[in-house]
Amino acid sequence: MPDLVLHNAVLPGLPGPRTVSIEDGRIQRITAEHAGGDRPREADRTSGPLRTIDVGGRAVLPSFVEPHLHLDKALLDARLPNLEGTLAGAIKVTGALKAEFTVDDCIDRARTVLDLAIANGTGTIRSHPDVDPIAHLVGVDAMLALREEYRDRIDLQIVAFPQEGIIKAPESLALMEEALRKGADVVGGCTYNEPSLEECHEHIDEVFDLAEKYDVPVDMHCDFAVDDSDPRYALVEHIADVAIARGMQGRVTLGHMTSLASLSGQHRIQVWDKIRQAGINIVVLPFTDMHLNGRDDDHNVRRGVAPVTLMWDVGVSVGLSSNNVRNAFTPFGNADILDVALFLAQVGHMGSPSHFQRLLDTVTHRNAEIIGIDEGYGVQVGDRADLVVLDNPDPVDALLSRSVRSFVIKGGRVVAETTKSTTLHQDHP
Ligand SMILES: [Zn+2]
Repeated sequence: MPDLVLHNAVLPGLPGPRTVSIEDGRIQRITAEHAGGDRPREADRTSGPLRTIDVGGRAVLPSFVEPHLHLDKALLDARLPNLEGTLAGAIKVTGALKAEFTVDDCIDRARTVLDLAIANGTGTIRSHPDVDPIAHLVGVDAMLALREEYRDRIDLQIVAFPQEGIIKAPESLALMEEALRKGADVVGGCTYNEPSLEECHEHIDEVFDLAEKYDVPVDMHCDFAVDDSDPRYALVEHIADVAIARGMQGRVTLGHMTSLASLSGQHRIQVWDKIRQAGINIVVLPFTDMHLNGRDDDHNVRRGVAPVTLMWDVGVSVGLSSNNVRNAFTPFGNADILDVALFLAQVGHMGSPSHFQRLLDTVTHRNAEIIGIDEGYGVQVGDRADLVVLDNPDPVDALLSRSVRSFVIKGGRVVAETTKSTTLHQDHP
């Protein structure tokens, strides 16, 4: 007997409303509405924890995936804003604040963001807590505790992220290893904090050594500048070579990658080829990328966001995510990945229904594949019942209309419900 039944659900690629029956955290059955298959008998209603919801023709998608979100550094803007507005300014401001971090402080701020993410339909977050001589393992310990606390509501992956560098901040390496031993799932990297190209290459080697030793994927921040004039921000071909040489194809994700926007001609074609050969995923973080980049331009200010439509055209794997919520890197956001997707459309010259559909595919299936949770992810029989019900029959219109997420379902249980009501008064004198 199902635990949860959704009636009148509009599912991707299926005509007409459907009944979705969920049991033991999985989609057990999908039938045409009124086919009579799973509408519960009165007797069933009193025999167990069954819940039936008539979603009234709303669209149902697999719950959203955030592949890149710094929960430990969220909601710091009220304490100390980044008045310079640059990446260097953000690192400096956050460095001062994180010296005072405690596990409880990180947990309190991260809980607020997790609750927002859940309400906005996100089912899985890959989080990148700082691991360095300033924060030590405070952020990792907070994420490990939250992963347990929230296990029935949202899944957390943890990346050991050396924000302060590895060669520049040598204590980071042992701390990253300790984080992996404690339960971090992914090894991070942050090349842009190293002072020279040689040190960037050493940093990359250390990251891949750890990935091999612990058999975990790599998820690095790099090439975060408006152009590739400084070789420390033009590392993608080198990383692709390292990934191929070490047999890590398909297990490397790179965040930001904004200097890709400056490439052109034959060099650009060569870089796309390398990225595809190495199976590298590029995750764009447009709130942060556009906010911090271009600060030295006094006219025709560059957008500072990787060229997503170009990468789509040549078959590069592209994800997108929030990165931060209201801190020195990103003084905006509500942990709503549809909000980020709509912003990317606006800054990325995307205006057609196919672009919008592609963005929806990105925040669901593509992001899921990038962080390795694509098996059993979706809205088909047998898939995990991690679902979001949009307050709209059409997902594309939901994106454009900023529709609320009426119901959010995790493991077959409703974990959030949102209603929005407006009354227009036409009887004013
Ligand atoms: Zn980041």
